[in-house]
Amino acid sequence: MTFTATQQKSESEPQPEQTSLVKDGFNSFRETNSKPLISGRNSAFTPSLDTVQQVDIRQREFRAASQRKSERWTVRTPTKRDIVARLERVSAEDGLRLKQCCSAFRVLTCGQHTLRSYPTFRCKKPFCPDCAAERANRLGRQTEAKIAEAMQTNRGRLCLLTLTTKNAATLDGGLSKLKKSFANFKRKKVFKNHIRGYFGAFEYTFNPKTNDFHVHLHLIILRGKFWNQSDISDAWRDVTGDSFIVDIREIKNAHKGVKEVCKYPMKPADLMAMPDDKFLEVVKMKKGTRMFISGGCFYNVKLDDADDAADDNVFSQFADLTEGDACPFCKEELFDVLVNRQQHIGLHELNSMPNVVKGNSS
Ligand SMILES: [Zn+2]
Ligand SMILES: [Zn+2]
Repeated sequence: MTFTATQQKSESEPQPEQTSLVKDGFNSFRETNSKPLISGRNSAFTPSLDTVQQVDIRQREFRAASQRKSERWTVRTPTKRDIVARLERVSAEDGLRLKQCCSAFRVLTCGQHTLRSYPTFRCKKPFCPDCAAERANRLGRQTEAKIAEAMQTNRGRLCLLTLTTKNAATLDGGLSKLKKSFANFKRKKVFKNHIRGYFGAFEYTFNPKTNDFHVHLHLIILRGKFWNQSDISDAWRDVTGDSFIVDIREIKNAHKGVKEVCKYPMKPADLMAMPDDKFLEVVKMKKGTRMFISGGCFYNVKLDDADDAADDNVFSQFADLTEGDACPFCKEELFDVLVNRQQHIGLHELNSMPNVVKGNSS
């Protein structure tokens, strides 16, 4: 696939560094909010002074343990700090929102098992690595469910289809050209003859050498009749006029395919490689710009808006648990604890959840 050439470049991300912004965000949260962390549904639970002190000790120990664990990890998402720094220079307000996003997490735990965890604030910006990842996960789960449902009544093979267009000077221009082309493409008879359902996401990369955007569309499709690449390429050239690079491959595993489609729309490293005018264009992109499409028997893969208080984890079966309840795994008493971003990374290692409870994706 020729279009991956630009992606290769972006692998050389700047090295991670310990971040201090996270701490700032965390501390500022602490100062302004001294209310109980998770307002319990069972408000009948009123802790004695002893319990308060005990919980306090357990919270401190928990934070320290998470911190130690996280430090043994290499932090893989350092670029958020870079984006924040850059954004703060061009727009202080947006920079602050991005900085506070996912800087602190509320966690319900027994000390051993993490049952719930969610950030105290999400910025929901499409270029935010944290929010993009959350969105991708949520959408992935929904898409997978829809595909499984559709495939009970529709026969065909699952394929990954990638459609590309020539590089564009502006992101907006590139996106609208691709959207228009796809709208015409799906109206074509050959499309209808071969494709029973599709779900797709737009992705864009940036090429600093040519200073333009490469916008493409990844689709997971349910193909009826065999459709070979050169015929697709011809049909695609018909609607775009100048672009013919397409890729189609069969996939065995819907989960992997969905993951491939539902990834970040843009790599943070690409964002950082942009000159100021392009950077501004991306961060100021219209809210609600549609980045996902679906149709045929996959129609209506809906993305509900992220709920601020929604669990960050998939462990929705624990949504009713609250502080003071017993841990379903070890029967220890559960407590709430606020951890910072760094400590939250350590949580994933503290977790030793049995496989059965890790959501239904296997
Ligand atoms: Zn965010
Ligand atoms: Zn436990």
